[in-house]
Amino acid sequence: MSDSHTTHSFETVAIHAGNTADPLTGAVVPPIHQVSTFKQDGVGGLRGGYEYSRSANPTRTALEENLAALEGGVRGLAFASGLAAEDCLLRTLLAPGDHVVIPDDAYGGTFRLFAKVAARWGVEFSVAHTSEPDAVRAAVTPRTKAIWVETPSNPLLGITDIPVLAQIARETGVRLVVDNTFATPYLQQPLALGADVVVHSLTKYMGGHSDVVGGALIASDPALAEELAYHQNAMGAVAGPFDSWLVLRGIKTLAVRMDRHSENATRVADMLTRHPRVTKVLYPGLPEHPGHEIAAKQMKRFGGMVSFQVAGGEEAAVAVCDRAELFTLGESLGGVESLIEHPGRMTHASVAGSALEVPGDLVRLSVGIENADDLLADLQRALG
Ligand SMILES: *Cc1c(COP(=O)(O)O)cnc(C)c1O
Repeated sequence: MSDSHTTHSFETVAIHAGNTADPLTGAVVPPIHQVSTFKQDGVGGLRGGYEYSRSANPTRTALEENLAALEGGVRGLAFASGLAAEDCLLRTLLAPGDHVVIPDDAYGGTFRLFAKVAARWGVEFSVAHTSEPDAVRAAVTPRTKAIWVETPSNPLLGITDIPVLAQIARETGVRLVVDNTFATPYLQQPLALGADVVVHSLTKYMGGHSDVVGGALIASDPALAEELAYHQNAMGAVAGPFDSWLVLRGIKTLAVRMDRHSENATRVADMLTRHPRVTKVLYPGLPEHPGHEIAAKQMKRFGGMVSFQVAGGEEAAVAVCDRAELFTLGESLGGVESLIEHPGRMTHASVAGSALEVPGDLVRLSVGIENADDLLADLQRALG
């Protein structure tokens, strides 16, 4: 992150941070340094600090500088996937016997990582409804090292008050982690709101084109950032050069994409609230959403994710997913193309039977940036 970016607006930083012209050729876009090792000028004579691409690679560095600048952190780290980033974070923050508070509405893979993997190594967790600060405070024990939050959450679009949880984290001496995948730094700046670490699945809005899997951590505290970087190299699940390049390219249009995602999602949510076959619409932009006021305070706009419940239960919800055409039936989210899915049987199948189980009549939309009228027509047809 270079200081010259601190005076520029988000849209400008997104395009320029990390994207310095190639010193050798002047190439305006950072080259894909598809290489594992670097020639040394005499033993230990590294050029620009580059030695071996697990430790550092110039294309990944460009992305990491960009991520740090966008989230306002001291350092960004890019990983092979969102879950690889989460794994690095949890093994940096937590040791056997430690405890973490996780949301009752976490991404299914995050829950699985804690429940099926970290638990085997003696890391304990409690599930709390993070929209209620008192529930989080009550879940913190003397062994708690971190509070983990997703806001908006996946797939129920719950909103957690980041500054209030940051206050609880400070009072109890634990770290606040915010998964900012749904909002992106364009809509929400968790570090400025008091969080210690931001987690991303770069696979989603940051990449934005459904063509790359990646993850990131951005920290505000230099000592923690240093520890995370040490673990990134020691554990090795880094983002490759081409993947880093794709995400860096995607981020250049993040602001315009998020504006359009938010506009289209607002239209979709409005239509759904008036549809007779829809019993409930979950979108933080709706005034009746329980987190609407907090979301309006801590987010620039409300994002592109909309969930809704269908009259007629699980089979009816599955049928809507099957009948949609323009909304492609598929997992993941955050790409330019609209997606539809049934969380209970797809993304959140791994939390069935747990405290995180999602309603069977729930449908989740990732509203893309196509023409909104086309999207509304497709959903109306799918709803029948
Ligand atoms: C997809 C997702 C993840 C996991 O990221 P991957 O890139 O799939 O490993 C984590 N958190 C949220 C909110 C996600 O949507």
